[in-house]
Amino acid sequence: MCLRQLLQSSQLQRAWRAAFLKHIQGRHPGAWRWTHSGGGPYRAVIFDMGGVLLPSPGRVAAEWEVQNHIPSGTIVKALISGGENGPWMKFMRAEITTEDFLQEFGRLCSEISKTSVPMDSFFSLLTSERVAKQLPVMTEAISQIRAKGLQTAVLSNNFYLPNGKSFLPLDRKQFDVVVESCLEGVCKPDPRIYKLCLERLGRQPSESILLDDLGPNLKAAASLGIHTIKVDDPETAVKELETLLGFPLRMAVPNTRPVRKTMEIPKDALEKYLRDLLGTQTIGPLELLQFDHGQSNPTYYVKLANHQLVLRKKPPGTLLPSAHAVEREFRIMKALANAGVPVPKVLDLCEDSSVVGTPFYLMEYCPGLIYKDPSLPGLEPSQRRAIYTAMNRVLCKIHSVDLKAAGLEDYGKHGDYLARQVQTWIKQYRASETSTIPAMERLIEWLPLHLPRQQRTTVVHGDFRLDNLLFHPETAEVLAVLDWELSTLGDPLADVAYNCLAHYLPSGFPIQPGQASSATAKQTGKLTEFMSNLAWDFAIKEGFQVFKEMPATKPLMRSHHTWSLLRTPGTRSYVTSTDSSLVHTSKGALIFSPEDLPPQVRELYQRLKEFMERHVYPAEPELQRHQASAERWTPSPLVEDLKEKAKAEGLWNLFLPLETDPEKKYGAGLTNMEYAHLCEVMGTSLYAPEIFNCSAPDTGNMELLVRYGTEEQKARWLVPLLEGKARSCFAMTEPQVASSDATNIESSIQEEDGFYVINGHKWWITGILDPRCQLCVFMGKTDPHAPRHQQQSILLVPMDTPGIKIIRPLTVYGLEDAPGGHGEVLFEQVRVPKENIILGPGRGFEIAQGRLGPGRIHHCMRLIGCSERALALMKARAKSRVAFGKPLVEQGTVLADIALSRVEIEQARLLVLKAAHVMDVAGNKAAALDIAMIKMVAPSMASRVIDRAIQVSTDDGSLVLLNHSQDSEFLSFSCPTSYKLITALCCTTPIHDCPFPPQIQPYEGSYFCFHFEYMEAEAQESGLSKVTQLARS
Ligand SMILES: Cc1cc2nc3c(=O)[nH]c(=O)nc-3n(C[C@H](O)[C@H](O)[C@H](O)COP(=O)(O)OP(=O)(O)OC[C@H]3O[C@@H](n4cnc5c(N)ncnc54)[C@H](O)[C@@H]3O)c2cc1C
Repeated sequence: MCLRQLLQSSQLQRAWRAAFLKHIQGRHPGAWRWTHSGGGPYRAVIFDMGGVLLPSPGRVAAEWEVQNHIPSGTIVKALISGGENGPWMKFMRAEITTEDFLQEFGRLCSEISKTSVPMDSFFSLLTSERVAKQLPVMTEAISQIRAKGLQTAVLSNNFYLPNGKSFLPLDRKQFDVVVESCLEGVCKPDPRIYKLCLERLGRQPSESILLDDLGPNLKAAASLGIHTIKVDDPETAVKELETLLGFPLRMAVPNTRPVRKTMEIPKDALEKYLRDLLGTQTIGPLELLQFDHGQSNPTYYVKLANHQLVLRKKPPGTLLPSAHAVEREFRIMKALANAGVPVPKVLDLCEDSSVVGTPFYLMEYCPGLIYKDPSLPGLEPSQRRAIYTAMNRVLCKIHSVDLKAAGLEDYGKHGDYLARQVQTWIKQYRASETSTIPAMERLIEWLPLHLPRQQRTTVVHGDFRLDNLLFHPETAEVLAVLDWELSTLGDPLADVAYNCLAHYLPSGFPIQPGQASSATAKQTGKLTEFMSNLAWDFAIKEGFQVFKEMPATKPLMRSHHTWSLLRTPGTRSYVTSTDSSLVHTSKGALIFSPEDLPPQVRELYQRLKEFMERHVYPAEPELQRHQASAERWTPSPLVEDLKEKAKAEGLWNLFLPLETDPEKKYGAGLTNMEYAHLCEVMGTSLYAPEIFNCSAPDTGNMELLVRYGTEEQKARWLVPLLEGKARSCFAMTEPQVASSDATNIESSIQEEDGFYVINGHKWWITGILDPRCQLCVFMGKTDPHAPRHQQQSILLVPMDTPGIKIIRPLTVYGLEDAPGGHGEVLFEQVRVPKENIILGPGRGFEIAQGRLGPGRIHHCMRLIGCSERALALMKARAKSRVAFGKPLVEQGTVLADIALSRVEIEQARLLVLKAAHVMDVAGNKAAALDIAMIKMVAPSMASRVIDRAIQVSTDDGSLVLLNHSQDSEFLSFSCPTSYKLITALCCTTPIHDCPFPPQIQPYEGSYFCFHFEYMEAEAQESGLSKVTQLARS
């Protein structure tokens, strides 16, 4: 087919051509004129280094940022920051040392990203052998340019390495001139450096072409008269250069190179063999090149007369019996070609090692295009879609091959492929493991338990990815699927999943960065950790959503919790109907009514409510009495009794999110959203969370141990906590520093003879006074000089370790919260074994952050439960209490307060449930903003709702509450909040100059004034001035 026919044949082809022409013409109008050989007017080609000869530093930075959780674009912003006098440019001119640069640049990056940026790690990656490697396409181009007699130069903005050498990881022999900014003290875009380069080349600007990836550098060159090519994608830039010079810059056979010395094969023996195979008349010398691909089975381009072939052989030396089975490759390709799968046509299998030293097979050479970058740079979206559609089609074709008809029934084992694969991976991972990667450990446990129940058996390619496909150069057609080395019989999902990897990994992520024992081992380990975190995230989000049973569709109703224990008749039940289909059709729907929870969770919810009514609410007076008695610092036997009952009824450890405990090994396996509904019920009584072993700080500590603890740590601490036999505390806050920013904490943790020695002063440590408290989860600094978020570590400190001195219990608005209390504590020379560290030194900040997400949902939902109960009590009181001749409920302001409370509770609940839902489906990190919002909304809502309830619930007003709390049912469940509210009220109402502080005895008239003015202010703030007017009248 001629080119014109080709271009006329489809819209896609037109788009293809248009994109290419736009690309070329847009940059260099008239570039096509220079098509005669010898380079036309050009005599020299000048190359920039990073981004042209080497991978772009911007791209390396982008990948590194993703892997290190640094906000994207930080490095690039820092690179251009300060212009000429920024640290980067100064470094390029060698005006500052590497050390100073790293310090200054690191500080700049931290300022930009508002997080600590480990510059050393970026610098070592940038200068590592893996990254700083000349692009093959450029190597080829340079050798072709030089072969035509043109000069080449490298003009690089580079720097000195710490070893005193300049950074130039290139073969200098490729260039006639090398100009390095750090040696010259001048860098691009300063015109002097271009002039220097031209001078050394002995060329005029008009005789030279500069390839650079940065606009300002090109602009400066162009203003001197140098022809420029902007390099976004090296392959495209080389095509552009080819057009300018008028001769090809690629080897005649793409992706090949001269045969490596160590990979040479005997040409004579091969030539004789080929003549026999292809016919005696075959003449002409044998041409041999080696493909870049095919490291494990060396692959050669062979040309003899007009025959173009590919030879694939086993590598030399001793081999594992099942590896490098070229015989299998030959067999599968032959069978698949017959079944209509596009594969290169195989010609012969030679098992006689005497020909080229090992068995080999031959196939026809298939010219085509290999797309190496899965993001397909330079192509239009429609072209990218077409490429991937073609790829999917060919995969379907492979998976649809009839095994029997193709004679492949015995090509591999049938069944259980995924399970076998997982076991092989685990074995291989264990064999190369050097340190523990928590996400990998979780995957190793999770994967075998979550394999699809039904598995199919088809041909699987085993390494199905874009760069193993050969495409037609002009259309989105797969000409051949290459590299069948890993093919076998197995589950087709394996190919699909492997193929999707590219979608989830950051662009350019090296899938096979090297062996664990190689020089890049450290980076390999980091990449493995990155990938396992990604995989774990996928497993518990999308994987979990795919496999988890979704709740059945039913009409959506929420009966609002007018706390059912209320003895007053006539409690009203609000019903909100909505179109349930919308909520339930999508997976992972937000469930905002307990009635819509999945059946097993709904049943749990129901049993929890019944337990509260049967056991918890009736126990409150006794529990409150205990808390006020002299025995309050010993646990109440009633609580212990209720704990046993709850445990026996399976209402135990409900808090652990499914994400943390996917196998339900430790908890009830509820999602954050499901548990939120249950948590609201628990929030209706201050005593409930402990009874169900769901109370802070144990919940956060248990989650921490499940997520990050070693098996030994779990056995020692997690088990007793889960059983409710021990309690724990979390020690972070310090009196001398603002601890809302955990990076401020100062307590020191120092290594000494296999121990960590702790010294520090902590306060507000909830639960530390409880005699059952056996474990203190302690946060301190192991390295105050490390980057800001890597200074902290978390240690497990047994409470009986010498040196822990509790100074005093702190009170919250006068209450001690016995028996746990909130302690002020000194840690003096407290020694704990080194194995008590969680995850390792420097991981404390990250762990503390991870610990907070679910806990905030719990706090907020409990507050909502608390508010619901306050509102229920308020309504009951408003109905039964008569003032000024009628029940309070008939007062407009009271009704307005009730309505407002209802609205505010609903708003807050929706927001908290949304936050929990986002955590479940997108992860704690994605939910950060929602979590921040609920932290603001829920407590302030609760304080307003409870405050309104206080106003209505007492005959003589807030001031009296302080003196009569024991008589008030309301205060018996929310004392701390009411104390706080009253204090806040006295401080913040518009009448803060009111002469009646809370301590004074009530005086009806003045109190009324206080009360009324306060309500008025509240009402005005809420836009309820009409109601206020009404109330006044
Ligand atoms: C009842 C109770 C129990 C507690 N239990 C524990 C426990 O078990 N373990 C433990 O380690 N700690 C505990 N704490 C301490 C609590 O975690 C800290 O009080 C909290 O982290 C704040 O630290 P800080 O007191 O040092 O306040 P600071 O950091 O000094 O902050 C003071 C005020 O400034 C505000 N603030 C700070 N930064 C900002 C900002 N960027 N923008 C606006 N405002 C800001 C804060 O909100 C706060 O109102 C408890 C506290 C209480 C009251």
